[in-house]
Amino acid sequence: MTQGLTLLGATGSIGTSTLDVVARHPDRYRVFALTAHRAAEALLALCVRHAPRYAVLSGLAEDPELRRRFAAAGCATELLFGARALEQVAADPECGVLMAAIVGAAGLAPTLAGARAGKRVLLANKEALVMAGPFFMRAVRESGASLLPIDSEHNAVFQCLPQAAGAASVRAVRRILLTASGGPFRSAPLDALSRVTPDEACAHPNWAMGRKISVDSATMMNKGLEVIEAHWLFDLPADRIEVLIHSQSIIHSLVEFVDGSVIAQLSNPDMRIPIAHALGFPERIESGATPLDLAAIGQLSFEQPDARRFPCLGLAYAALREGGSAPAVLNAANEVAVAAFLEGKLRYTAIPQVIEHALGRMPAARADSLETVLDADRAARRTAADCVAGLIGRAA
Ligand code: NDP
Repeated sequence: MTQGLTLLGATGSIGTSTLDVVARHPDRYRVFALTAHRAAEALLALCVRHAPRYAVLSGLAEDPELRRRFAAAGCATELLFGARALEQVAADPECGVLMAAIVGAAGLAPTLAGARAGKRVLLANKEALVMAGPFFMRAVRESGASLLPIDSEHNAVFQCLPQAAGAASVRAVRRILLTASGGPFRSAPLDALSRVTPDEACAHPNWAMGRKISVDSATMMNKGLEVIEAHWLFDLPADRIEVLIHSQSIIHSLVEFVDGSVIAQLSNPDMRIPIAHALGFPERIESGATPLDLAAIGQLSFEQPDARRFPCLGLAYAALREGGSAPAVLNAANEVAVAAFLEGKLRYTAIPQVIEHALGRMPAARADSLETVLDADRAARRTAADCVAGLIGRAA
């Protein structure tokens, strides 16, 4: 029997890779719902190809002309509009598997809806755990949902842990090491960083990704968000989650056990691998990725991240240790700062300044419900936007 799949963020980088894997296994998966924010044309093309039951354009209001176009294309897909429709398709009882691949805080509410509905949640949207770790994990436990990490690092850790051991596996772990490529500016002169452009920041040496996560990879905020994500996924404190720069992106993470053994997961950098792992789990299915050729790669290298080059990483550890609303504030301020940088309004080196300002202005508050987290998110966005405006004003 085929499994139904709802794909939040179908038009993005993870969405595209997911549909590539799914198309290799028509005997296993059928697409139930696809969502995009505003990319109507791209979503229509996907609907023609995959014939889902529902399609959602979450960033658009009801549009009869678009509805006509979808109908004329001949796919029997029902088109829904607005953000609430994301939660509706995420929680639909007719579909068992949810790929959460919306970028940013907008992914939290629909991903949580899927978790509360007891789905098998394939989690790419790390922001859901960063913002709402405690009650997101509670929702997973209480509903009986299963959570499979898509981020290549967390997927690697998941693969390295003994699956049957449960809590005992956490006691057996001394630390986990999340690898990071170091991004495009790993060895650029520090004084050149204030002049880098959005296109340079998005030119990741190993991975092809959406623009927001590409900038986060350059600043290493992406790794900071992953540290927080790992804390919730694997129930480990911050001081047992370390970051190691490994520029080839072949080892996707490592787990060190109390006996001194270290287990790592290796592959070519291709997101179809963790996606296929999570889709097929506990079986292994074909991903379409090129086999790893270690002799051709020759050498693997490792180094400690430089705190002066990557201040965002330290800010993420600080927010995790602070707890409460601090990770949501960190995430929101980062989203505002990165958007301003991508629009060409803010210098690259001002991104951590904006985040530090927001964290300093907003003492950690309770974050134990969707409402309190979204309140913190909104307040942090206002604080960060004021800071961005001030920095732009000073530069003018
Ligand atoms: P992209 O920017 O490529 O795609 C984002 C998707 O989300 C698009 O479908 C987009 O629709 C949709 N979207 C954007 N804004 C909103 C919104 N406000 N409400 C609803 N939907 C929205 O992102 P990626 O695929 O790169 O990343 C997706 C998630 O996966 C992120 O959380 C990222 O951190 C995580 N991730 C990504 C990896 C990668 O390799 N790309 C690796 C590991 C994790 P539209 O096209 O209409 O704008």
